[in-house]
Amino acid sequence: MYDSAKRSLREFEPIRPGQLWTYNCGPTVYDYQHIGNLYSYLAADVVRRTFEYFGFSTKHVMNITDAGHLVDDSNADARGEDKIALSARRENVDPLVIAERYTQQFFEDRKKLNILEPHIVPKATEHIPAMIALIERLIAKGHAYVAADGVYFDTSTFPGYGTRLNPEPPDTRQAGARVEVNPNKRNTFDFALWRKAKPEDLQQWDSPWGRGNPGWHIECSAMSMKYLGETFDLHSGGEDHLFPHHECEIAQSEAATGKPFAHYWMHTHFLKLDSAKMSKSTGGFMRLSDIEAKGFDPLAFRLLSLGTSYRKGLDFTWESLEAAQNRLNKWRGVIGDAYQATGGRATAPRDEDEIRVAFAAAIADDFNTAAALAQAEAAIGHAATGDDETKRRALGLLFDMDRVLGLSIKESARKAAALPEEAKRLLAEREDARKNQDFKRSDELRDDLWKRFGIRVKDTKDGQRWERDGRKGA
Ligand code: AMP
Ligand code: ZN
Repeated sequence: MYDSAKRSLREFEPIRPGQLWTYNCGPTVYDYQHIGNLYSYLAADVVRRTFEYFGFSTKHVMNITDAGHLVDDSNADARGEDKIALSARRENVDPLVIAERYTQQFFEDRKKLNILEPHIVPKATEHIPAMIALIERLIAKGHAYVAADGVYFDTSTFPGYGTRLNPEPPDTRQAGARVEVNPNKRNTFDFALWRKAKPEDLQQWDSPWGRGNPGWHIECSAMSMKYLGETFDLHSGGEDHLFPHHECEIAQSEAATGKPFAHYWMHTHFLKLDSAKMSKSTGGFMRLSDIEAKGFDPLAFRLLSLGTSYRKGLDFTWESLEAAQNRLNKWRGVIGDAYQATGGRATAPRDEDEIRVAFAAAIADDFNTAAALAQAEAAIGHAATGDDETKRRALGLLFDMDRVLGLSIKESARKAAALPEEAKRLLAEREDARKNQDFKRSDELRDDLWKRFGIRVKDTKDGQRWERDGRKGA
């Protein structure tokens, strides 16, 4: 995998054999997540699924930022109001109501996209003591200092600050940009670990430094280390986290522990709309529900996202979504037909099967989902044109690949497989029998449909209804 810290492809070596322990920076829940945010969680989902495909067990932590993230976070001096507080004021409700609402919405969207639930989802507001403990540790070691308006990390005590993920030091990168440096700080790039509360702050907690609230960066260090230990395998987030968020996480974590923080770093490139960055704070963003409102299946968006590398990002257009939807529909049709033709019997793939080998090689190559889709397409070809034996093998391959692709291929196969003609005939005959009050015949037909086709029939006040493998009909 490509490691953003080493800026090169590296063979993955886990800390514990056969296990991946990973932290994925979660959302700031002050608004809906846009499809750009969702794109980055799809990338993290593919990572987790890939490791599980290869037999790893995973421990996947993703935080919820429900406090401490200020509106302008692009520099060492985060500025402006807290994002959650701003929404809370706008809507005149408690900040935690805002956080809860958008957290739930986020999880609904994830579910629609078949993004696996992380094993642990810590909320920042429930981990304030862990953050305070970490800040105390940094002060005790001389890496942080108390100033008039809060506690700061002293970047002069951490050689190479800001250059672990970024080739150029922060001052070169920032040259030309006019930055007002907070006079309470010792060095330009020192960043807040704890901010003293202003009376109007909606969220504030007691601390050894008076009432206040945590900095966004310390949240992730405290929560990741609490659940994954001081050193863990993989840390991921979007490309905007490269600086300052992840540089700050590295500095404060390693300064506190004296150990390496994460062994690998992964950054997803952005989804762009009309070539512009999609951003929650500047508005003009699109939600999953906007896609659904136009009649698209959320999984078409998943398929579209898989078609490009997370290291290139995604140029979103309606035409490309439409193409993905058509591709998905075509796949569903082929898979449904093959499923029906073979009586739903797929053959488990053999390890040496060419398509399987190529698929595994693709995802093992820095999660190359685009190349992996080409293998799925090859299997679709076999499912469409092969004899029954070939169809069964193709289905087995597709079900196997779907452990990574997450397109609900098995479910759609069952759904798409139409009822056999004979079953349709029996259903019609039973309907007639009921109309003619021939209940003996209608009961026989009910048993027949169950025994021969696995179809359950129920009588409702609106007439006969049937169900098979979760698929329902009248
Ligand atoms: P936020 O809720 O703003 O903290 O962002 C949640 C996640 O979405 C972070 O990992 C961001 O890096 C990522 N992200 C934000 N905007 C985009 C975008 N346009 N494309 C891809 N990922 C994004
Ligand atoms: Zn984070």
